Amino acid sequence: MMDFVKGAQELFEYTREMRRDFHMHPELGFQEFRTANIVAKELTKLGMEVKTGVGQTGVIALLEGKSAGPVVLVRFDMDALPIQEETGAEYASVNAGVMHACGHDGHVAVGLTTARILNSLRNEFNGTVKFMFQPAEEGLGGAERMIEDGVLENPSPDVVLSLHVWNEKPVGWLGVVPGTVMAAADTFTIKIHGKGGHGASPNLTHDPILAASQVVNLLQGIVSRNISPLKSAVVSMGSIHGGEAFNVIPSDVELKGTIRSFDPGIRDMVIHRIHHIAENTAHALECEAEVEIKTITPAVNNHPGVTSRVQAVAGRLFKNDDLDFSTITMGSEDMAYVLQKIPGCYFFIGSANPDKKLDASHHNPKFDFDESILPKAVALMVASTIELLGTA
Ligand SMILES: [Zn+2]
Ligand SMILES: [Zn+2]
Repeated sequence: MMDFVKGAQELFEYTREMRRDFHMHPELGFQEFRTANIVAKELTKLGMEVKTGVGQTGVIALLEGKSAGPVVLVRFDMDALPIQEETGAEYASVNAGVMHACGHDGHVAVGLTTARILNSLRNEFNGTVKFMFQPAEEGLGGAERMIEDGVLENPSPDVVLSLHVWNEKPVGWLGVVPGTVMAAADTFTIKIHGKGGHGASPNLTHDPILAASQVVNLLQGIVSRNISPLKSAVVSMGSIHGGEAFNVIPSDVELKGTIRSFDPGIRDMVIHRIHHIAENTAHALECEAEVEIKTITPAVNNHPGVTSRVQAVAGRLFKNDDLDFSTITMGSEDMAYVLQKIPGCYFFIGSANPDKKLDASHHNPKFDFDESILPKAVALMVASTIELLGTA
């Protein structure tokens, strides 16, 4: 079998060219028409059976090995974000207000390079590689849409692999962690209804701004007072709106925030406490609170058995002191929905390089990552896929 690190490095020009092209032409979730078109064209060139329009703009392709065997699903997300790019890179976005600020341009390029290498090795493994190029990962439900459209059927995958370039860690670092690696994400909206009136006659009003202020303060007590110091969760406010004029007490205030958690029991408790605090505090101040919770994604859970096989592959390919088997993040990912149904491993490739000023955080207008990590991502994806399929 080939030297995967060397093989991926030999295709670096291709990977980088693809990545820069996707970076220049970013598309928002469910609008990845150009991207999906290029993906379909590149996979068709390799002779694969390609299906487009899965979950609106998703692409599926099958690659058959030498003889029958397991089915390994490899998943790459394709969408960009509604952000005006400020990197000044020569390959910066030409689409105003749209930017690949999470690195999904790199994921698509890694996916296409992975397909090229696996295609060249198809007589050396058994089973089937199923490629899943997914739209709309950024909170719009792309994974769920592809699942509804049958990405996990005909054939049904036995194992799934996916990855993220990761600017929270430097080039060289590699995170392959069993168990829960990313948090469950929910949003909450609290509408506080009072009775508006003149700012000079507060006694005639039921002030929703005062009630909202108390609610914001008390919500911060959930993590510090209700959750065991040995466990974790996040309750963050992201938006507060109410009132227009300096001398008018408004009738309504709306608060929005997010909950992050690893443990379903803790998540339920946080939601219960948000209801309790908002409704009773509003009530104490003669207002009414309406709480609405919306689930974005469950937690991302890596299967211990699959993950330990990817760890072993990573150990064979790379220096062991680069490998991190324990770091987890409060970020979230809709890959969680796939991992709820199919055992798998979602791993992270450190991509920040402060010396080259490539270390802005994900979703920042200056976000960019060090492209030299792309072959490493390809090598680990290819080698792990073959490890899970078995050699012919
Ligand atoms: Zn993102
Ligand atoms: Zn992302």
